[in-house]
Amino acid sequence: MLYVSTRGNSERVPASQAIKQGIASDGGLFIPEKLPLITLDEILKLSNEDYVCRAATVLGKFLCDYTFEELSEYARKAYASEKFGGNSPAPVVQIDDDFFVLELYHGPTCAFKDMALQIMPHLLAGALEKTGEERDAFILTATSGDTGKAALEGYRDVDHVKIMVFYPVDGVSRVQKLQMSTQEGNNVSVCPVKGNFDDAQSGVKKLFADSDVSNYLDRNGFFFSSANSINWGRLAPQIVYYVSAYCDMVKNGSIKLGEVIDVCVPTGNFGNIFAAYIAKCCGLPLGRLVCASNKNRILTDFFENGVYDRNRDFYTTMSPSMDILISSNIERLLYFSVGSAETARYMSELSQKGIYKVPERVMEKLRETFVGMTCDETGTSECIKRIYNKYNYLCDTHTAVGIDCAQRAKSDGRKILSVSTASPYKFASDVYRSLSNKRFDDEFDNIDALSQLTGTSVPLPLALLKTKTIKFDPEKSILPDNMADFVKKASDVWGKWTV
Ligand SMILES: *Cc1c(COP(=O)(O)O)cnc(C)c1O
Repeated sequence: MLYVSTRGNSERVPASQAIKQGIASDGGLFIPEKLPLITLDEILKLSNEDYVCRAATVLGKFLCDYTFEELSEYARKAYASEKFGGNSPAPVVQIDDDFFVLELYHGPTCAFKDMALQIMPHLLAGALEKTGEERDAFILTATSGDTGKAALEGYRDVDHVKIMVFYPVDGVSRVQKLQMSTQEGNNVSVCPVKGNFDDAQSGVKKLFADSDVSNYLDRNGFFFSSANSINWGRLAPQIVYYVSAYCDMVKNGSIKLGEVIDVCVPTGNFGNIFAAYIAKCCGLPLGRLVCASNKNRILTDFFENGVYDRNRDFYTTMSPSMDILISSNIERLLYFSVGSAETARYMSELSQKGIYKVPERVMEKLRETFVGMTCDETGTSECIKRIYNKYNYLCDTHTAVGIDCAQRAKSDGRKILSVSTASPYKFASDVYRSLSNKRFDDEFDNIDALSQLTGTSVPLPLALLKTKTIKFDPEKSILPDNMADFVKKASDVWGKWTV
């Protein structure tokens, strides 16, 4: 199976090339030419297998130039219990009769990004080998908080890879900032950027398209690659946990094989929910997909009226990983809905005017699957408290946006699986304040108070943060215009050959 660009140029590449390149040469995103099938028989069989086998099986359908043995080996290393704790890296928790939560935050950085970014370095290393690449990968990542840390942790000290992360200086939580500022590893660099996530993301996209910068890197022995969810290597491992969750629910009798369930995903870049959509298209019995947004409700508006309009105020919320106005993976959804020519046109309108409109007949079809919903700041706080008081279940701010939308979207008789994307301790001050109306100045005091109040324990990687030294000064932020120079300089330092 080969990969094509959402914008329709003629390039057709194997999975390894798509993962290595990150983005298609016409600026589009890679997408499989044809989707594989996942049958109920296979789901039944996988129900009796562990996560590693489920991952290798599902990934094998999409990454056809990797062998089952290679993928099993990668998955075994990526999802080891030392990294994710417990029996499953992605457990399903039942909180009410028809209400289930898929917990994806048990990895080393305490957010769902680990699910993909722990295995992606193995996929990239395999890709370098398979494509006979002699240069090293220079990974550039813009982060709304969680991707950056997860990518740094996944790629640290990986041979033939350097990684540089840009985060918006005022757009990430205190724990996220500290996690990135204290990153260890000899192939990593972290840089705060003045502006919001979209500024950082646009800056990175510009760098990818800048031939002056890529030629400069080439002379230093590097090529650009990405760890954002524009890279198919991020998307594919996210399909696995929807299949795995369904398998778990079949296995423990929560649902019958073939029973349709709804899914709700707290959404930012539209990567996580798009993986659910792919799983559904391949045959996993998923019904409606609830796209849950915070106060930045651009996707809610899009699903309501077909207009994608980024000319609006940007809000900084307590769910910062969802503070996004340009949801990159919508491009992949458009490709499946209207084909490459129209997708390319919409994307050019988006970059020129910041707005495009999709015809009503297309939206009607999309609405058969997608429901866009919003939960604002008050709603988020109230949901954290309500869910804790009623079910004794503690959730983070992003997960709360999802659960609140899921509760409102829930239809009679159908079970719903709401995705939990981060540990409550990663956003401790807002979670603690939501429960107690109190808040300490020092984030570690909030973490301790949350633990005492709820009797839950602080995840080890966050507890250990206190002991780490700052390696990348969070005060030294740069302007988006200076990102190119910053990258060039790092490539000089890291370069195998000096210019
Ligand atoms: C990244 C992230 C999201 C949004 O996921 P997308 O794939 O960008 O839609 C939601 N919650 C948390 C905690 C995240 O880190």
